Amino acid sequence: MSASPILQVAINAPLSRLFDYLPAAGSPLPEPGCRVLVPFGRQRQIGMVISQATESAVSLNKLRRISATIDPEPVLREQDIWLIRFTSDYYHHPLGEVVAAALPALLRQGKPLNSVTQRLAITGEGAAQSLSVIARRAPKQAELLNLLGGSASDGVPFSELDELMPGWRRIRKTMLDKSWIRIFESTSETEYEPQLTAASDGPILNADQNKALQAISLDAGFGVSLLEGGTGSGKTEVYVRLMKDVLASGRQVLVLVPEIGLTPQFVSRLKERLGIEPALLHSSLTDSVRLAAWRGARCGSAPLVLGTRSAVFTPLRNPGLIVVDEEHDTSFKQQEGLRYSARDLAIARAKHLDVPIVLGSATPSIESLQHCSDGMYQHISLPTRAGNAVPPLMRLVDLNQHPPQDGISQPLLDAIEVNLRSGGQVLIFLNRRGFAPTLICSNCGHVAECRRCDARMTVHSGEPKLLCHHCGASRPVESQCPECDGQFRPLGHGTERLEESLNQHFPDKTITRIDSDSTRLKDTMNKALASATRGDAQILVGTQMLSKGHHFPNLTLVGVINADQGLFGTDFRSSERMSQGLIQVAGRSGREQRQGEVIIQTGFPKHPFWNELFSGGYDHVARSVLREREAAAWPPFSRLALIRAAAHKRSDARRFLEIAREKAEAAGSSNVRILGPVSAPMERRAGRYHAQLLLQSPDRQALHRLLQALRPQLESDTTARRVRWSMDVDPIELF
Ligand code: ADP
Ligand code: ZN
Repeated sequence: MSASPILQVAINAPLSRLFDYLPAAGSPLPEPGCRVLVPFGRQRQIGMVISQATESAVSLNKLRRISATIDPEPVLREQDIWLIRFTSDYYHHPLGEVVAAALPALLRQGKPLNSVTQRLAITGEGAAQSLSVIARRAPKQAELLNLLGGSASDGVPFSELDELMPGWRRIRKTMLDKSWIRIFESTSETEYEPQLTAASDGPILNADQNKALQAISLDAGFGVSLLEGGTGSGKTEVYVRLMKDVLASGRQVLVLVPEIGLTPQFVSRLKERLGIEPALLHSSLTDSVRLAAWRGARCGSAPLVLGTRSAVFTPLRNPGLIVVDEEHDTSFKQQEGLRYSARDLAIARAKHLDVPIVLGSATPSIESLQHCSDGMYQHISLPTRAGNAVPPLMRLVDLNQHPPQDGISQPLLDAIEVNLRSGGQVLIFLNRRGFAPTLICSNCGHVAECRRCDARMTVHSGEPKLLCHHCGASRPVESQCPECDGQFRPLGHGTERLEESLNQHFPDKTITRIDSDSTRLKDTMNKALASATRGDAQILVGTQMLSKGHHFPNLTLVGVINADQGLFGTDFRSSERMSQGLIQVAGRSGREQRQGEVIIQTGFPKHPFWNELFSGGYDHVARSVLREREAAAWPPFSRLALIRAAAHKRSDARRFLEIAREKAEAAGSSNVRILGPVSAPMERRAGRYHAQLLLQSPDRQALHRLLQALRPQLESDTTARRVRWSMDVDPIELF
């Protein structure tokens, strides 16, 4: 008896295995990459066929049959399934959940891939009728026959008929009964048609840009190039030239940008220079628009695909190049659920597809720099600013000598004054939204805290309230201390308070605040940015949202209110992050004809970090960070994985991780250090206690073997039911 084929199906459930099913009787066998509907427990679930097999560990008479096939043709091809498998293996995450992360929402929900259009056409019988005869008794019917007779043989879509002849639906039934007309459905795969416009000529490339272009070969298959160059050094122009060549050869380009980097400016620049409207994939689009772009990428009708993190999974018909802009940006790492790095997956994918990949940044990640010195990536520098712009002047203001009033020191106030007077625009940067980060009792020093987190409440003005930035809890502003009845007062500065004090200092200037509070409403961000770019606002106040990707032609001064948060960070990535952030912010200043100025307020001007940054720039900081990491055997000199657990009871989270530790030790990997369990730096968040176990190894394979052995054991352990837990491979934050 020949074995009936078994379908191995990935299902969106937190279990690291595939589920075996028999095909539905009497219908064609769904291929790998097709979605199917399957019975799962007592429910039905949407799954994806990953492979076919001839045997199952489950005995044949216990196997259930799939209920239905959703896709007649695979939605994912072999290479897409490869990426999903790779992601699942590398991040030790259930395959079904990876499939769910990789698919657009509508496909995840089981909606058809292709949109179905209903059309109405004339039949032979209908065509044989005499219009003039019918017109006497039923003028509407004659009109419809006339309309259909004169159009293409595949008929007219309903939506078009609604416009051409609004009353047609009322006579439809009569005419169908007479067999004069017929309805049929057509599916369209290529509804995504990018808009083509004339491409503009770019500037003549400078010598460094030309060298970069020559170094990046588009025909030699896989290779990683790290393009390092400060803001305005002409990286985008280099991407554009590469893209032009790839597009001209009929291949597709995938561009990944950080969440905040997907600015209208960047999109319109690509459009203008390449003459193609990019297919966009990011979270603020509607599901159907996203699906259309995804489908265009999949069938090849979208030559240029531009998206944030999850766009790395977009299927491509004919890929020729991948670009990751601002490769160091932390938003490429998903921090919940499937904790993947889109940059790292993009590299793995490029390798599998055998296409070149370009990573660009003014401040490359320490990992990527290390790969360059290992010879794994090629390092290309664009050392100067393109065009005529000169790099900004940076200086420190010592807050001990110049105590700030309302957050702003006198030297910074003076500089703002001078810049505004000469017609420049000023950006004041503070990475704290809200009015004040703390509400403190002036009598006993008691601080208003979140009831569900180990965190202080932030004071917000406008509609006054206290807000927890970690769990979102809010309550009215308290005026009296619950401990001693003393007066509460706001302490410290957030962007709202800064805006207020700038208003007092510069009452006749227009001030625009840009942070996630001021731009919550749809489109307010784009409007605020557009007006900032035009120069309508003389002073911009903002959080890191303002530090990336935007080009303000008239900006001459950047002020950094509080640089000290990063100097004493607990995370081994603090100084890397801090210098990246400062250099990004500084890059906003003086991009065109005028030299920019950057003023940084600090209470610790003697900290060695400043000397490194000012004497040697990011290169210098990066080199010293690399030395520190090597000495301490932190990444990239070792590999990390973090197992996190959270529970309503502290002991449950601890217990689970202790068991994880025992199991890891029993799995016996001598080359992996196990640290913990310890409480997370912020232990209580949203009412749950968080703890973590860190695994570290110089040997990536050893670490992965251990994680692989551990995952199924933890999934089936009974203590897992009382906790939320996750594995984070290559964590970028240790909490
Ligand atoms: P980056 O992406 O590194 O920030 P861009 O490619 O955006 O740099 O270039 C910065 C500015 O300089 C842009 O306005 C761009 O049009 C201009 N530019 C780029 N290359 C040149 C060049 N070779 N000559 C003149 N201007 C250039
Ligand atoms: Zn909270």
